Amino acid sequence: MSDGESIKVVDAFDLDDELRGLLKPGEMVRDAQNRRHRLPRYFYEVPSREVAMSIRLTPHFGLNEFLLVDLREAPRLQEFPRYIPCAVRVLAFYLEQFRAAAGASVHVAVNGGYRSPAHKMSHAASPHMWGTAADIYRIGGTIVKTQDVIEKYNDLAEQLTDDISTYPYGHVTGSTADDHLHLDLGYITVVPREISEDRMEVPQEARPRFAFEERRRRDRRATEPPPASPES
Ligand SMILES: [Zn+2]
Repeated sequence: MSDGESIKVVDAFDLDDELRGLLKPGEMVRDAQNRRHRLPRYFYEVPSREVAMSIRLTPHFGLNEFLLVDLREAPRLQEFPRYIPCAVRVLAFYLEQFRAAAGASVHVAVNGGYRSPAHKMSHAASPHMWGTAADIYRIGGTIVKTQDVIEKYNDLAEQLTDDISTYPYGHVTGSTADDHLHLDLGYITVVPREISEDRMEVPQEARPRFAFEERRRRDRRATEPPPASPES
């Protein structure tokens, strides 16, 4: 896609009953420690596989990588248009920094990006339901599975920033489970600046509401300071 591309943002309260029932915008869910967290409300709407493949969130991470799921995701959420919380672009930014620190490509596992509240792996509230967690199964040519490899990359991520949390080796229980690297940013919700928050948290039957978030790719690449703006 060219500079100035945009991506559609929807208020999940405006989606149809089935989608709202699966995405549960604004609902409270409990984590494993019984703390409550409010699920995200604003999602990118991804119209097709081609668009998912074409959108780069950062130079090395495409939107598609965070949408990989198998049959454990709700059938409706495997169909396009698909929905992913807007905070995924914050995750991609951090993964880009992690990739640079690792000095190798970073590969997200199937079911290792966004998992909806309806996904069969969504038991307690996990940041995967916010689009702010990634399960990494391979870094460069190394499969991330053994204790020494997982601890090495957990250390690397934690040295990079306090914003990233990891799980210790062995956090996956069950005899058939493969371990992996889990990186998350906690329960971040993003409200794109293009959308207005003056709307009620109830379905609006009359009119679908959405906005287009401008992808500020040109600004990200700029080496000179951006032009002065009145509100800065
Ligand atoms: Zn995980």
